[in-house]
Amino acid sequence: MQRLAEIPFPEVQRMARTGRALVILPVGVVEEHGAHLPLGLDSFAAEAYAASAAPHLEEQGYEVMVAPTLNYGVARSAIDFPGTLSLEPATLKSMVVEIGRSLARHGFARQVILNGHRDLHHMKALDDARAILEESTVRVLCVGFAHDPEVTTASYRDGVKHLYQSPRPDREGHGGESETSVALHAFPALVKKEVIEQLSPNFDYDVDAFRNETQDYGSLSGGRGYFGSPQAGSAETGKQLVAIRGRNIAQIILKAWGPQKGS
Ligand SMILES: [Zn+2]
Repeated sequence: MQRLAEIPFPEVQRMARTGRALVILPVGVVEEHGAHLPLGLDSFAAEAYAASAAPHLEEQGYEVMVAPTLNYGVARSAIDFPGTLSLEPATLKSMVVEIGRSLARHGFARQVILNGHRDLHHMKALDDARAILEESTVRVLCVGFAHDPEVTTASYRDGVKHLYQSPRPDREGHGGESETSVALHAFPALVKKEVIEQLSPNFDYDVDAFRNETQDYGSLSGGRGYFGSPQAGSAETGKQLVAIRGRNIAQIILKAWGPQKGS
């Protein structure tokens, strides 16, 4: 796996000329995730899943390149929390289209948008960008949190249910057990562990309003900014979540585009 921003141009050219190149664009956002987690969590998580998916793709003959993460997105639900930043969906769409067109110009015709942020407008903007890019010869997949709920399930939910330690896994969400676990594994230095000890579970909220984004996170969570139980999270669970979700994402890509072996 190569990181585009860390290599010189001849290496990019070499990868493109193999005809087996695949580029992953991690997409996150700057958004509150409770008092215990960093605002960049969704970006960092998308990067962890990209790194976890890459070996599975390379095993099947792909040359994997990871583009610099798009750290900004649409984050309307949590906009009242200090530090949350939000783009207009059209801005996000344009950025992804323009990055994708630049990559295509240099021979990267297989592009994967790996999104770590769940927001309906954000996911729709990414899917709109995918559709625009696919009007040319570029092939684009949206994985992770996707506009197509089946892709989200196949990316993040398949094979992980048994990992939850929470007494109410059906009420886990933003900033809860899953995201806390991934953070404790993938970027532990950025987690306020002493704060987690003081957080009581937030199970008593309107799940439908949360999922459908009809109410803001601040009023939905009584100002706490998390949903579920941060205390149920662990680095061990996070390690398994990253491994399983990375493999899930690689499988979605391989199912769509097949292996490159022998070509
Ligand atoms: Zn998140």
